Amino acid sequence: MTRRAVTVGDVRIGGGAPIVVQSMTNTDTRDVAATVAQIALLERAGCEIVRVAVPDRAAGEALKEIVGRAPVPLVADIHFDHRLALQAIEAGVAKLRLNPGNLTDRRKIADIVRAAGEAGIPIRVGANSGSLARRFRDAHGRPTAEGLVSSALEEVRLLEELGFDQIVISVKGTDVPMTVAAYRDVVQKVDYPLHIGITEAGTAREGAIRSSVGLGILLAEGLGDTLRVSLAADPVEEVRVAYEILRALGLRERGICYRVCPTCGRTEVDLVRIAREVEEALVDVIQPLTVALMGCVVNGLGEAGEADVALVGGPHSGTVYVDGEPVDRAVLEAGLAEAVIRAVRAKVGSHDG
Ligand code: SF4
Repeated sequence: MTRRAVTVGDVRIGGGAPIVVQSMTNTDTRDVAATVAQIALLERAGCEIVRVAVPDRAAGEALKEIVGRAPVPLVADIHFDHRLALQAIEAGVAKLRLNPGNLTDRRKIADIVRAAGEAGIPIRVGANSGSLARRFRDAHGRPTAEGLVSSALEEVRLLEELGFDQIVISVKGTDVPMTVAAYRDVVQKVDYPLHIGITEAGTAREGAIRSSVGLGILLAEGLGDTLRVSLAADPVEEVRVAYEILRALGLRERGICYRVCPTCGRTEVDLVRIAREVEEALVDVIQPLTVALMGCVVNGLGEAGEADVALVGGPHSGTVYVDGEPVDRAVLEAGLAEAVIRAVRAKVGSHDG
């Protein structure tokens, strides 16, 4: 089922639009310069919508300037105090995220909805297992998929009663199976666009794996119109992981897709180091490109034939291929990373032309 669509600034979510990549700043929002700088870095990495925490009035005040300087639409993340939502709308944000677990007064929500309606911005109803109200937890006080969905839908119904339908829903849990069950359930009940994510997924490696498993299942089932990978790391890393997840499923393409052999007893060059150097040097490339880095000819020649640029290792040396043809033969190991980087830069340049 195609979900309804909402528009966040100039970005469309749902309605069959490409899945939108989001992240969230972790700077102090009151520090305008630091927050704007991080938003710029996120945008450069491919982040299409950025969420910003608004914990107090000073942060809400800073939002005015941040909105004016941000190159992408901003979402104000609101908890507890409805006045901060009103202040964020006034500051010009393109969307609100409300937490049904900690903003419950119907009259206050009505005030927010009226202001959002007048400003023409959508609201994400974002239920989260960490802030689920007691009555939506099980007998042991633990969050459940049913509880997440009930909490979100209760607020959705309130918004609908108030005549508001520019809604995005999320039902994020820290537990992957619970989160998957919640999204599978909510999608049967409403057709608003879905913001998907595994909340508090973990540190860079663990969080990337948990998010990949959870979001991979949902996306493979066609669930998810926008996503955020939550990592205890630089938020730019969240964006990179998000694109890798989308690329793995053939849903979005951005930047270089690396095919790197795992190395084995046949490997005669330090391929792990070369791969790291190549990846770090080419992090700015946004054109979709396949780069194969292979330790030897066993699988190397086949991968080189499929890749835009490839390296096939030999005895302390290697050959660089472009479009399946060898262009740089018997390059000594010390110069291999540089030779691959050069070939990619030349290829990207030719794409630009
Ligand atoms: S491509 Fe060669 S070096 Fe790499 S894992 Fe396969 S056999 Fe080993």
